[in-house]
Amino acid sequence: MPAPDALQGTDLFQLDDLLSEEQLLVRRTVRGFVQDEVMPVLKAHFRQGSFPEKLIPRMGELGLLGANLTGFGCAGMDAIAYGLALQELERGDSGIRSFVSVQGSLCMYPIHAFGSDAQKERWLPRMATGEVVGCFGLTEPDFGSDPGGMRTTARREGDQWILNGTKLWITNGTQAHLAIVWAKTGPDQDSIRGFLVERGTPGFSARAIEGKFSMRASDTAELALQDVRVPESNRLPGAEGLKGPLKCLTQARYGIAWGVTGAAIACFEAARDYAISRVQFGKPIGGFQLTQEKLAQMLTEIVKAQLVNLRLGQLKEAGKASHVHVSFAKRNNVATALDIARGARSILGANGIVDEYPVIRHLLNLETVFTYEGTHEVHTLALGRAITGLDAFS
Ligand code: FAD
Repeated sequence: MPAPDALQGTDLFQLDDLLSEEQLLVRRTVRGFVQDEVMPVLKAHFRQGSFPEKLIPRMGELGLLGANLTGFGCAGMDAIAYGLALQELERGDSGIRSFVSVQGSLCMYPIHAFGSDAQKERWLPRMATGEVVGCFGLTEPDFGSDPGGMRTTARREGDQWILNGTKLWITNGTQAHLAIVWAKTGPDQDSIRGFLVERGTPGFSARAIEGKFSMRASDTAELALQDVRVPESNRLPGAEGLKGPLKCLTQARYGIAWGVTGAAIACFEAARDYAISRVQFGKPIGGFQLTQEKLAQMLTEIVKAQLVNLRLGQLKEAGKASHVHVSFAKRNNVATALDIARGARSILGANGIVDEYPVIRHLLNLETVFTYEGTHEVHTLALGRAITGLDAFS
């Protein structure tokens, strides 16, 4: 622990003064949940490569599933309270935050935003409690950054749709009761539509991806769809074209910008505590200027990320946050969290590679976060397009 006159925590600019009582309560509650209920089981799950499913009903009770949606049993948190909740979850582990992001932003949000009344009433209340788990199938083996090229098809036959294709890298894939599958109903990306595919539907299967060194406490799967028949009533009526899934991703990326700040804080705090207690050459390594330079840089980036998150949350609450703001925040905060994790890893020396400390786990997880939900490069192109008006995507 730092000396009493040293900085406690990471709130150098007293941003807590700008938070409401309710926002602080959400943060405190989720922090307590992560400390008391997530951390005691997490290491074993990460080692084993499994998601702690027993936590799902508790996350439902705490209002963490679809937390920023209104009605249908959802907590209706404001954008900043929601962001703080995700920050605390990812301070624990990116896999736990990923579960919540996928359930809330990628499955409940599209039903909430694009679904029929019957779909909303049927699914959202049970998804808010965690009784029903969802997954989001957009990425395919040959189409990651370029999802508009997808090969999964949906062909209409009377009152039914017949789906064929493969989706890869799908979070919550094997545990999900319900998959939101994006498929082309015609030749181009304007024909993309979203379909609700229930587990157990003939022709639909999920297979866990083995051998991951990142996001080990998260379920990642391949979904196979072979002549899967779903009724027209399972199509999301309000989603047309690629902008349907992209709007969901903007919601999820908002949460990621906050979440990774939590992972960065966890790494920074572990490194600072270690630097204060670890003695080499007769003094704490935190007393060496080179270590202080690393810690100073880490704190600087955390404070900047916190400021970006807070302003982004205000803009989102005011209905003024665009996908460019979200790209900026996701791109910056993930890249800096990864740098912070690497810096913390070096401060911990050999201890930086064992899971007795949280740093290597965060570092490995953040490698995924750098790539999913729009790679760092894709968000660079989104910013580049906003800056120049010129499209460098293809
Ligand atoms: P590619 O698109 O093949 O990219 C490879 C490299 O090329 C990257 O560095 C990329 O930035 C670069 N690149 C590509 N195009 C350009 C360009 N135009 N200019 C410059 N560089 C470029 N997907 C889902 O649908 N649902 C999920 O729940 C989900 N969960 C995931 C969980 C995990 C653990 C992981 C690892 C992935 C998950 N994904 C999910 C998939 C993820 O969104 C994709 O991995 C991501 O979009 C990148 O696609 P790719 O891996 O095919 O990489």
